[in-house]
Amino acid sequence: MTLEDRLLALIAQNGPLTVAQYMTSALYDPVDGYYTRKAALGADGDFITAPEASQMFGELVGLWCAQEWMAMGSPAPFNLVELGPGAGTLISDAWRATRIVPGFHDAARIALVEVSETLRARQAQALETVGAHATWITRLEDAPQAPTLIIANEFLDCMPVRQFVRVGGGWRERLVGARDGALRFGLAQDALPDDGLIPPALRDAAEGAIAEIAPSLPAFVASLAERFAHAPGRALIIDYGSAETTGGDTLQAVRRHARVDPLEEPGAADLTAHVDFVRLAALARETGLAVHGPAPQGVWLESLGIRERAAALTKSRPDKAQSIAAQLHRLTAPDQMGVLFNAVCLTPSDSPPPAGFERTA
Ligand code: SAH
Repeated sequence: MTLEDRLLALIAQNGPLTVAQYMTSALYDPVDGYYTRKAALGADGDFITAPEASQMFGELVGLWCAQEWMAMGSPAPFNLVELGPGAGTLISDAWRATRIVPGFHDAARIALVEVSETLRARQAQALETVGAHATWITRLEDAPQAPTLIIANEFLDCMPVRQFVRVGGGWRERLVGARDGALRFGLAQDALPDDGLIPPALRDAAEGAIAEIAPSLPAFVASLAERFAHAPGRALIIDYGSAETTGGDTLQAVRRHARVDPLEEPGAADLTAHVDFVRLAALARETGLAVHGPAPQGVWLESLGIRERAAALTKSRPDKAQSIAAQLHRLTAPDQMGVLFNAVCLTPSDSPPPAGFERTA
């Protein structure tokens, strides 16, 4: 029985699903979920991320980690945690780039939080090529208590969201139901009793506006706050999403580098939604964390020296000049990943602004 058939049977029995419940099944169903079964990253897969587009991304994130490790007083040991490391490219490039930093490799304990068995194997392979070792964990909470640097690139966009639509002056939840034997979007019959769940900036939005809420975001922020209450650290989060509350349907399914209908063949496509940086920052402040940024990815990478890095790479490989220029453009240009993606850093309240966030604190 396909996941689609199982979901149709479930809906027939219990009624429609929330969008978050649908996303959870499509991404994490133990048998047929996209991340448990397929998770095809890379040029010959379904989607490409910044570290897959250019080695410069992982290198700069690695050097950023080394700089922040020194700013924390070069603790040894410390946890170098990546959430959702995909093909392992970012962490491998980061490791290679930090070889020159005295003491960093000896002090680092790499812990990778990954659901996919297939991707865990790919990450192990990637790390082997740079002579690094890691342990794999299923939750951030399982990393040992110690100073911790956390990297999460395109990780929070997998977090399931509920969606609400402004109808007749109230908010009704968007649901996944069934019609003619297929999955279909619909609306809950009843409006929400109050708008407490809706982001404040959207509460008076026009008819048809859509609000998205990730129900597990508070628990994620709480796990960072809990960790940073016991030891210093930084969490670097880079993802799709605006620094302002814009509203709108950002649920997106991507398969073989093309957008497809999110309800078509659940489990076969990657499903994501934009990260709500405004709510992330508000939740972080509520738990006593300091919020640095968000800064647009392009601006952040430029302040870390991506142009200089590209120039150095071009000098050593003049034959690759064109491809290096294309990679730089892709990561930083406003019409590419430069503005659509934002970087934010969450730290304990007493930390100075991390590298690249000095002007955005
Ligand atoms: N950070 C990588 C990959 C992004 S794709 C890159 O930039 O290339 C999302 C990654 O998060 C995949 O590795 C996926 O398997 C993992 N993932 C998604 N949800 C997860 C969860 N709840 N727990 C652990 N890993 C998860």
